[in-house]
Amino acid sequence: MNLSDKLESFLTAESLALIRLIKTEAERLNLPLYLVGGSVRDLILGFPVKDFDLTVEGDAAQLAESILRRFAGRVIFHTRFGTATWTLDETTFRRLDVPMLGASSFPPFLDFISARSETYSQPGALPTVKRSTIDDDLRRRDFTINAMALRLDGRFWGKVHDPLGGQTDIERGLMRILHKNSFIDDPTRMLRAVRYALRYGFEIEPETLNLINDEARQSLSRLSGERLRHEIDLMFEESNPSEMLHRLAELNILGPIHPSLEHANSQLPFLEILSLEYGEFTIPDIMTFKRTLGWILWLMPLSEYDIDMIAKRLDFPVLLARSARAAASLLRKQPSFVSWQPSQWTFYLEELPSIAVYAVYLMRREPALRDYLVSWRNIKPTITGNDLKDRGLEPGPKFAGILRQLRSAWLDGEVKSKEEETRLLEKLSI
Ligand code: ATP
Repeated sequence: MNLSDKLESFLTAESLALIRLIKTEAERLNLPLYLVGGSVRDLILGFPVKDFDLTVEGDAAQLAESILRRFAGRVIFHTRFGTATWTLDETTFRRLDVPMLGASSFPPFLDFISARSETYSQPGALPTVKRSTIDDDLRRRDFTINAMALRLDGRFWGKVHDPLGGQTDIERGLMRILHKNSFIDDPTRMLRAVRYALRYGFEIEPETLNLINDEARQSLSRLSGERLRHEIDLMFEESNPSEMLHRLAELNILGPIHPSLEHANSQLPFLEILSLEYGEFTIPDIMTFKRTLGWILWLMPLSEYDIDMIAKRLDFPVLLARSARAAASLLRKQPSFVSWQPSQWTFYLEELPSIAVYAVYLMRREPALRDYLVSWRNIKPTITGNDLKDRGLEPGPKFAGILRQLRSAWLDGEVKSKEEETRLLEKLSI
C-alpha cells in the first residue's frame, strides 16, 4: 500500500512542508525515515492526524543536529531514549523558505526518535531500551493497528511498512496485541485496548480478549498511580468516556485498580453533552477541564473516604482530590439547602472549587447552583473597603462584617441601587 496521496491530501500544507524538509535532510544523511504509530493508523482510517512520531533507522540525534544547523531553533537531546525534540523558532521560519505560510500554523515542536527495541526485566517495570531496526521498533508496540510505519525518504515516499498485519486488522475492525505477554508486560494496554476499540467502533479480537485474564488484571497492582490515572484521563478526553468506563467494568478491570471504582457513577452522559453547555460558564482549558470534570462526575457517588483512598492510589493532583471530595460532600448535603437564600448558597459554595459545584449542577440541575456559577459569585457591593476607610472605619472584624452584609443584601435583593446600599451602610456603621 502507498499512502502518498493521503499524505498529500490529509496533512496541512504546513505539516507537509515540514515533513518534506526533514525527509530531504534524512536523505542527505542516508537515514531511513518513517512516520510511525497512531498517525499511520489515522491516515489509513481517514481520521485527522494529531501529531507526528518521526522515527529513523539510525541516530535520531544526528538528524536533529543537522536540522538544527540548517534551520535553527532549539534541540533537546534525550540520550537515554535516543530521541531529540526540535523546537522551531523565528529564524527557522525565515529559513524555511515557505513565506506564504503563517508561523502559527506549524507544529511548535517535533520529536525525532531512533528505532529501538524494548525488553522488560520484570512485568510492569519500565523497559530496557536498545537502538534497533524499524521492525523491532514496531514489535515493541501495543496493537497491530498502532504498529505500522510509513516510509518518507527518497523513492519510498508514502510506502506503508506493515510486517504485523495492521492493515488487515483495520479492515476487519480488530484490536490485536502482538504477543501473549503483552498485557502482563504493560497492563495499561488493557485500558488502551478499550479506548481504541470504542473510539473506532472496533472489537477486541478473541485471543486478545482471552488474555485480559486474572493474571493480567493482577499485574495492574504493580503499575504506578500516575500511569493508571493518565490512561483514564485520556478516556475523559474522548467523545464517549461513559462507554469506555462501562466496558472496563464489564472486563473486571476497575476492581483491581481500586475496589470502590466498581461502585462509581456508571453513567456520565454529561461529559458527552459538555461541549454544548459549557459556553455560559468560564472555562480556561477545555481538555484539562474535561479530565477533571470526568473524574469528579465518575467518583461523586462514593464516600469521601473512598475518594481519598482512590486519590492516594492514583496519585491525584491536590486540586483534583479536593474537588472530587467537595463534590461528593455537596451532592449529599445539597438537598437540605433548598430553602436557603442566595447569600447563604454563595457563602457556602465559595469555599468549594467551582468545578465541583458545576459537576453537582450537572447531576442535580438545581437552579441555585447554576445561578451561583453564572451570576451570584460575581455579585459584589459597590462600596469597597477603601470607601469604609474614607468614612473613618478601622479595618477589622466589624469592617469585614459590614462588607459581607452589604453583599448579602445585594444577593438577596434587599438593596437594588447605590442609594439603597448607602442607606444600609449608614444603618450598619452606627
Ligand atoms: P492517540 O490518537 O490516542 O494519541 P497514538 O497512537 O498517537 O494515539 P500515543 O499514546 O501518542 O498514541 O502513542 C504513540 C504510539 O506509541 C502508539 O501508536 C503505539 O504505537 C505506541 N505506544 C504507546 N503506548 C504504548 C504502550 N503502552 N505499549 C506499546 N506501545 C505503545
